[in-house]
Amino acid sequence: MITVQGVEGQTIGVLGLGRSGLVAARALRAGGAEVICWDDNASARTKAEAEGFVCDDLSKDKTIDQCSSLIVSPGIAHLYPAPNAAIAAALRAGVPVDNDIGLFFRSLATDEWDSFDTAPKVIAVTGSNGKSTTSALIHHILNECGKVSQLAGNIGRGVLDIDPPEDGDVIVLELSSYQTDLARALTPDVAVFTNLSEDHLDRHHGMGGYFAAKRRLFAEGGPDRAIIGVDETEGQFLAGQLAQTAQDDRVIRVSTTQKLDHFGWSVFVRKGFLSEYRKGKQVASIDLRAMTGLPGVHNHQNACCAYAACRSIGLAPRVIEQAMASYAGLPHRSQTIAEVNGVRYVNDSKATNVDSAKMALRAFKNIRWICGGLEKDGGLGALVDEVASVKKAYVIGREAASFAMQLACETEISTTMAAAVQQAHEEADEGDVVLLAPAAASFDQYDNFEQRGEDFIAQVHAIIAR
Ligand code: ADP
Repeated sequence: MITVQGVEGQTIGVLGLGRSGLVAARALRAGGAEVICWDDNASARTKAEAEGFVCDDLSKDKTIDQCSSLIVSPGIAHLYPAPNAAIAAALRAGVPVDNDIGLFFRSLATDEWDSFDTAPKVIAVTGSNGKSTTSALIHHILNECGKVSQLAGNIGRGVLDIDPPEDGDVIVLELSSYQTDLARALTPDVAVFTNLSEDHLDRHHGMGGYFAAKRRLFAEGGPDRAIIGVDETEGQFLAGQLAQTAQDDRVIRVSTTQKLDHFGWSVFVRKGFLSEYRKGKQVASIDLRAMTGLPGVHNHQNACCAYAACRSIGLAPRVIEQAMASYAGLPHRSQTIAEVNGVRYVNDSKATNVDSAKMALRAFKNIRWICGGLEKDGGLGALVDEVASVKKAYVIGREAASFAMQLACETEISTTMAAAVQQAHEEADEGDVVLLAPAAASFDQYDNFEQRGEDFIAQVHAIIAR
């Protein structure tokens, strides 16, 4: 655990007692703070009380007035569509609102670092899609190359839960827009922005607020190195704003659509090959087509970002290439479950929206597509032009029939995962890919996308075992 510094004798409120909130409370207590916890959920409060924390409603003026700051969990709205009652009370009273990420950056460096040969480094990853994959891939490459790396943030452990880093260690953080928007300190050594597309617009009051939240990762003095996906205008804007000139190699531009050979430093992918250019010269090339854990152009974008981050901290192209080859992928993201009689079964249950499903459909050919569930705002319109590789769709979910009607390909109303997997399996020919990429939320049939992916895996394994 990272002990929070500079809070001794202060009273600090912690709002939200989930995974990161409870860790923040412990880390504050270790730093000598008095902690007042609150969560609207009574069972979360009971858990905190069992650890000896005082719980009191932080939306009451007399409670919040005691606090010198309020630490908030990412799931709680801090501004839009409306601030949570406790945050509104803190704003009225002028109590600074922060989160565990802000505490982390303020508390990471200790006096012990003076004796280190190499100060620990923090690589932080944000963006609309690919954050988890990019962060996990960086972490994997570092470990394969013999570096000690810890992965935390929006993935795995809360940031304050990690072990204090030793000489030369690296910390890889996945940060969501909610986290970057609120943190009062954000000082990574290397910061990555993968891409930008519409998401969470209600929490940021539109696209401008969403982009502004992500940009904060690059604003607090700026990281030593910024890795920016420039396939959208926002990425180009950000890269241009951070660099003094096009030759400034503090910025590494990343693209999957353009040959970026005229910048100080760039990494891009064309026809499945990653290229690194520095000052107009190609310095490395990697064949990504052979990387089974990273299928599709979207994963090639993630690979470019991870490659650039690892190059930033001094790893050589060849060792990065070798390490990438053994990356197995994260569960529920382009995850190959089995290959039987030439048919590949892929779990992309995390494709909960139209945009991510589109990427999954572009990544494979001869697809038997399992899709459906709770439709998101905006409908399925963007998928109409993406079904060229789909042989047939097997639609699941309570609203399977209306979902199927919107698809411009052959469809089967399967309704359940078991039926969908069975039908797709029976009809699949050698070379086909049975792909779960729902393009919808899971809540009509499952608790979450993980449970939906686990069901797919179980059905595939049951069929194989027969
Ligand atoms: P995040 O952590 O940003 O949600 P993940 O790596 O968990 O990203 O991937 C989420 C979904 O988005 C996956 O199902 C995948 O299909 C899709 N995806 C992954 N990387 C990208 C990318 N670079 N661009 C677009 N979509 C992506």
